[in-house]
Amino acid sequence: MVKQVRKPLMAGNWKMHHNHFEAIQVVQKLAYRLEADDYDRCDVVVCPTLICLRSVQTVIESDRMTIGLGAQNCYFEEKGAFTGEVSAPMLAKMNVQYVIVGHSERREIFGETDEVVAKKTRAVLGAGMTPIVCCGETLEEREADQTTEKVSGQIKAAFHGIKADDIAQCIVAYEPIWAIGTGRTATSQEANDTIGVIRSVIRQMAGGAADQVRILYGGSVKPSNVSELMGMPEIDGALVGGASLDPDDFAKIIKF
Ligand code: PEP
Repeated sequence: MVKQVRKPLMAGNWKMHHNHFEAIQVVQKLAYRLEADDYDRCDVVVCPTLICLRSVQTVIESDRMTIGLGAQNCYFEEKGAFTGEVSAPMLAKMNVQYVIVGHSERREIFGETDEVVAKKTRAVLGAGMTPIVCCGETLEEREADQTTEKVSGQIKAAFHGIKADDIAQCIVAYEPIWAIGTGRTATSQEANDTIGVIRSVIRQMAGGAADQVRILYGGSVKPSNVSELMGMPEIDGALVGGASLDPDDFAKIIKF
């Protein structure tokens, strides 16, 4: 097992929370609670709403924070008549480094298909950023023993035709839908097993790149359960929703 060569990553997905004043305060409070040693052990990323990206980026850069900036979504076309959308090159121009792609809320509420997720993954890589590609099963799928089939299909679709070197740069987030925002976490063993499946799918597609891809767990991660999850060999970090809104809780998670 080569977990030790993969630096843990903790990404906060603020979803549609925090206006730009609040977002600035939260990132400042978070930075105040973190020390150089925390960043040495762990990469830290915040993903504010689209309209807060500029404010948060300005604070991160002017205060020389070691916090990475992520967007929650983008469109796959570079420019054009796509009212309400923002492209990957536009985000990259603003020093955004990560983009969450295919979050279950985008898939379920906004109808994003595997094909759209694949196009977005390519667009993000093409603009020089790191996609955080989300996958995960519903409760019905888990109970019907379809977890492996579901996540394998999502990963194969997202990375289809992408070069192994590029896949190696990607981050995957395994987020069982039944554990998102519900307070119900997958057991660390369940999360580890499914992430092992995801890594073996990536190995079939991209060989040794699979050992470089960081695969995060997401779904009601909190200060009280992060250590156990991070103790598992396949889990390289967390995509954190609710608990990342509070700088105290997110700092505790980062210091797991
Ligand atoms: C998420 O939305 O990516 C997530 C994991 O949310 P929560 O931590 O609130 O379950």
